[in-house]
Amino acid sequence: MSDEQRTPVERSVLVLGAAPEAGWVAEALRDRGYQVAQVPGKETDAARDAAGIDRHDGWRLARMDGRVGAFRAGLVDEDGRQETLAASAVVVAVGNRRAVSWERLGVSPADPGVMTVPQARRLLDAPRETGPAYPHRQQTILVALDLGGDTAKETATEALFLARDLRARWNSEVLVLYRNLQVDTSDLEALTRHMREEGVVFCRYEEPTLEATEQGVAFTYVEGTLLGQILIVPEDVFPREDTPALAKALGLRVGEDGYFQEVNIRQYRPGLSERKGIYYAGRCHMDADPATLRADAFRAAADVDALLGRGYLTPEAIRAEVDSAKCARCLTCVRTCPHGAVDVVTRDGVTAAWVEPLACWGCGACVANCPVQAIDLLGLETPAWASRLSEGVAAS
Ligand code: SF4
Ligand code: SF4
Repeated sequence: MSDEQRTPVERSVLVLGAAPEAGWVAEALRDRGYQVAQVPGKETDAARDAAGIDRHDGWRLARMDGRVGAFRAGLVDEDGRQETLAASAVVVAVGNRRAVSWERLGVSPADPGVMTVPQARRLLDAPRETGPAYPHRQQTILVALDLGGDTAKETATEALFLARDLRARWNSEVLVLYRNLQVDTSDLEALTRHMREEGVVFCRYEEPTLEATEQGVAFTYVEGTLLGQILIVPEDVFPREDTPALAKALGLRVGEDGYFQEVNIRQYRPGLSERKGIYYAGRCHMDADPATLRADAFRAAADVDALLGRGYLTPEAIRAEVDSAKCARCLTCVRTCPHGAVDVVTRDGVTAAWVEPLACWGCGACVANCPVQAIDLLGLETPAWASRLSEGVAAS
């Protein structure tokens, strides 16, 4: 790689979001010596250790200009004041939104003994002067997953940890009711095995009916009726309501499910956005148990370090280049480039499409769509078999 192709970059990163994963990414990068700015958005996790992190509480991202190695984030605060932050890379870690869709469950939060996982956790963790929770000792607690649809892995795992702790600290009968519980990591397999050993009962159901009675909640399925004095349901997770606006500001697309979505550039890599130098971390792009979410945050920090750690960027071996003399300025390539790598610029008095070398992935979409064949892929060698084929055609 020649020195001319190296573009020096600052080791500076902007982390967007106030979710726990935003803090993990910011701290991991700070500890590796990066200048880290964090824009938490409306929520602020004031309890986090922000030492060495340039926090912009109360500000939000309005637009993102520039490209990998030289992003310029336009911020606004609630009073309309504006500020611009420079960063070489960006990590989006804004988390998700939670709510319980009671209408799907067949019970109401007003029914006696019905509560959500966070409510039950607060009850369990509340300080007690009387030792163990004797009122709950003889009770049956139903922890019901998958009611009205599959429970997200994130909140299903929280419900399992709660069920384990209820059994251990309240000594209650605890039953985990599920329809489609996926125990697909070694952590979850160990957790559920431990829970069974501690006496938590797992019941798989199909087509249940729930009825709130004076004695508790009756859960009826093919095996019969279970009566629980307490019914605990996990929350549902949703994309944040401001995801489309944030995606627009970042120049990114959102998947059909409403979450940020990775691109597949030659091979799938988790957390890779379509804009080079912008990565996703945690719940804004995936549903997973807490250990996996934490690992994903460190994966995002490692991706940033792999990009910026050398202190310079180089273009891809294969990338597009526009012949400005042929360009008809139709903007097709600007619209079709999935990676925001093309712009129309005026250089040396000529206005034409321009491919930013560091932002181009070399996917070829613009080449295929240019109506006047003004774009070439540099570095793309013709395979030997194709050369032989064309030689053969020419000779015949
Ligand atoms: S598609 Fe071709 S002609 Fe149109 S702006 Fe791009 S390079 Fe120019
Ligand atoms: S090859 Fe063209 S479409 Fe693909 S990233 Fe580069 S400029 Fe964009």
